[in-house]
Parts: sequence; structure tokens; C-alpha cells
Amino acid sequence: DKIYYNGNIIKREDAKVDIEDRGYQFADGVYEVVAFYQGEPFTLEEHMERLVFSAGEIDIETPSAETLIKEAKNYMQETGYADRNAKLYVQVSRGVASRSHAYPDGLEPVIIMKAGPLNPNPEEYFQEGVKIITLPDERWSRCYIKSIALLPNILAKKKAKQADAYEAVMSRDGFITEGSSSNIFIVEDDTIITPPATNYILNGITRQTVIDRLAPELGYEVIEESIPYYTLLKAEQVFLTGTTTEIMPVVQINDKVVGDGKVGAETKEIFKAFRELTGFVRGK
Ligand code: PMP
Repeated sequence: DKIYYNGNIIKREDAKVDIEDRGYQFADGVYEVVAFYQGEPFTLEEHMERLVFSAGEIDIETPSAETLIKEAKNYMQETGYADRNAKLYVQVSRGVASRSHAYPDGLEPVIIMKAGPLNPNPEEYFQEGVKIITLPDERWSRCYIKSIALLPNILAKKKAKQADAYEAVMSRDGFITEGSSSNIFIVEDDTIITPPATNYILNGITRQTVIDRLAPELGYEVIEESIPYYTLLKAEQVFLTGTTTEIMPVVQINDKVVGDGKVGAETKEIFKAFRELTGFVRGK
């Protein structure tokens, strides 16, 4: 296994974290996960631009998105994933400094990348749909930043797994926000609705792909508006979006069946269009 570490490609066992790395001590950093389909990156530009944006929002200076794109492509070529389905994890931590809440100016960020297998969800999840649970959103109010501080998200995902559910979808003040690692859409009377990209959600690149590319191509309008929790519970169709989630139909919310319990026509079409766009081939 090879790791990208501040511009160098090194062996996994040589990649070490300093115990005073602020990412390690304070979750002081940002990240991205990018899918590669048979070696071809999917929306790599968008991910690297979001990484630079997230870093900027917490006062971390990174190399340009163009530089990061070049570095990521070059790194992937050096791994065993050059022509496979893979995911690339990219993390930027503020850097190493003697532990103190206020960070010193001018720290050198620590940038790491790690390639791994894509590990797509089983095909039956996409064909039959999955269950989700609902939870209160206990996160901070700057969820538009893709921060490595993910405690509420990991605890929510664990609760979902314990309930045999794929995802935990959160709500704040009576309105749904997003899943612990995905965005959410509902379909009502041929209209696709998703919560707006406020500070309370991460504006997913898969979400944006549905809004900008897939829905218009299929002739659907997407409305970005707040969705009350009770509207979610009576929605006819529900689906999740995310880099590793892809387009995931939801057929059960807590103990309640969604619609007739089958994957709806619009959801199926969007899933199919997404697969065509990414060029995903199972087993590669
Ligand atoms: N929301 C959260 C909280 C996430 O962690 C993710 C996955 N990174 C998403 C939404 C989906 O974003 P994307 O489509 O860019 O993977």
C-alpha cells in the first residue's frame, strides 16, 4: 500500500502521524472522498474545489485545486488502483504544533491521500431499497464545511447499523437536514424535493449532480426547499445521495414503509442515469 504524504508517495508503514498533529488532537482539518470508476475519477474537480473551500472556511491554506487534482491523479497511477474501481481519501490537517486551542499562524498543513477499494453497496440495496432511521441533528451549525470532526455522524451511523438500517437521517427544529454521510431527496407528485444547501448541510457533489445534470436530462424539476419531518414520513419516494451511497432508494423509515414499499419509477430512473454517467461496472 502506498500513501501520499505532503507531496511524497511513501509506503503505508512509513506514513506516521505526529502526536501533536492538530488533526489528531482537535479534529482540526477537512477531507474529501472521491470515487474512481475503472481508473477514471468522477467529479474530481468538484471534490478538490470543495476541499480548498472547506479549508478556507476554517483558515487553512492549501495548494490550489488544480495542483491537488494533478497530485491525486499522479498518486492514483502509483497505487494498485490505476484501472480499478476505487475510492480516494484526501485529508488536510492544519499541521503540527504544541497543543493549544488557538492555532499559531503559518502552520504547514499536512496533506495525505489514501486509495482503497470502492467497496460498492450490494446490488440488492439499489434494486430493493433500504431502511433508514431518524434522529435529531446534534451537530454544529457549520455543516457545509467537510470537517474531519465527525463524532455526531459516526454515532448516528452506528445507531443506524444497530437498527439494521443503512443510514440515519437527521432533523433540526422539525425539518430534515441530511444523512450522517449522505443527502436526502423525496419525490412527491412527480416533483423532486431536497433541502436547500444552507449552512446546516453538506452540499453533496452527488446531490449537485442530481440537481444540475440528471434531473434536467430526465425532464424533472428539483425544488430546493425545507422538508418538514412529517412530510418525509409520508413521502411517496425517498432516496439518498453520496459518493459511495450513489443513488440509494429508501423503502422504510423507522418502522414505517415508504409508499408501496417498492422502489419508485423516478428514483429508478435517476439511479440508472447516475450509473450511466459514472460508468460503474461491478467487479472491476
Ligand atoms: N452529507 C454528509 C454529512 C456527508 O458526509 C456526505 C458524504 N461525504 C454527503 C452529504 C454526500 O456528499 P457527496 O455527494 O459529495 O459524497
